[in-house]
Formats: sequence, structure tokens, C-alpha cells
Amino acid sequence: MPQSATIEDIKAYQEKVEKNKITPHDLPRCSRCQLESHFFKVHAYRDRRFLIIVQMLLKAVFCTLVRFRCPTCGKTFTFYPDFAMPHKHYTVPTILDFARCYVEDDQKTYEGAVNTENGVPEFFDNGKALAPSTIHRWITTLANLLATYQAVRSSSRHHKSSYVYTQSSIASKKYKSQQRKESLLRCRCFFRTRAFFKDQFHRVCDNIGLHLI
Ligand SMILES: [Zn+2]
Repeated sequence: MPQSATIEDIKAYQEKVEKNKITPHDLPRCSRCQLESHFFKVHAYRDRRFLIIVQMLLKAVFCTLVRFRCPTCGKTFTFYPDFAMPHKHYTVPTILDFARCYVEDDQKTYEGAVNTENGVPEFFDNGKALAPSTIHRWITTLANLLATYQAVRSSSRHHKSSYVYTQSSIASKKYKSQQRKESLLRCRCFFRTRAFFKDQFHRVCDNIGLHLI
């Protein structure tokens, strides 16, 4: 069965929001003025639609994301719960599960990647199947995430990235351009070095501003 955040995960998070238990303390410092995040103030609450997989059905669930504001410079930051990734409706476990399935198997096609041992997940409301092109986009996102993280890290700390993805290889039938080959290699590298991110993964996403990618 494909992985997904559960309705319980989302309800538990929503309960924290409603009890004002989401604090800015775990956010990185302000990327514009470097103010420590515990000084941030709540700026807005935004309802966000998530897609979870329940018994191979894609179901929409809404929950609230909290935005904080830096009181010094006015920049705003979204707090993302563990299951959420900026600009993605699908939850993190689903994105990682399908992307890994494709990128770690040289024989796997995008059509094959969406077709799990239990079939292709379908939308609960209209029966539409999860599109192979969605996996293609997720791989691009993860590859760009790693690339941006490396760039920020090497420019801010003045040292070269330790992730040498070019030493790995990808079956030539999986790409038609050098750019895509590099994305696949980066995505594979993402999974092999993800231990580095650990629970910092979401903080990293927010800190580097995934929307810039
Ligand atoms: Zn600031």
C-alpha cells in the first residue's frame, strides 16, 4: 500500500493549531534580517487542501497552516507540519514513496511507478487515476531541493558540497536530456543522503524557500 499521511496525523496537527500549540520556535531564524524565530508573531491562518491515500483512494482533507511574521523586517514564514511540503497537495510520505520507487529502480517507468502492487491510486470523487507525470514533477522538486540546499550551504559556509552525485549512474532509457539525467541523479542522491536531513528536512525546505525553485 502506498505511504501517506493519515487522517489522524492531520487531525492531530489541526488540534494543535486550534489550541495555539504551533509555535515559531522550530523555524529557522529570519532569512532577511536574521532575527531569532522565537520573536516571530502569528500573522495568518490559511486553510490548505491535502491529498491523502486511504485504501488506494485519494481523498482531500483540509487543515490550517500557520504563518508567522518577523516583527523586525515584516517577512512572513509558513510553519509546515511534518507531512506537508511547500506547494504540494500530496503529503510528504506519498511524494517520497513514489519518487523513490521510480528513481531507485532502473527498470521502472513512470507508468510502472504509479501502478503499485495494489493498483493505481484513484481520486475518491471522480475516479481519476494518479498521473505518471505527477511522479515526474515530484522528482524534479526533490532534485531541486537538494541542488538548492547544496548551493545555499556551499555559499553560506564557504565550502564545497560533499554530495557527489555524478559518481552514481542512471539507466539511459530513463532520460532524454542531460538536464533530466542530472535531476534523476540528484533525486537518487537525495534519498541516499537524506539521513543528513533527518528531522531538519522541513526546516530546510522552509529555510531555503522551496518556492524559489
Ligand atoms: Zn526579519
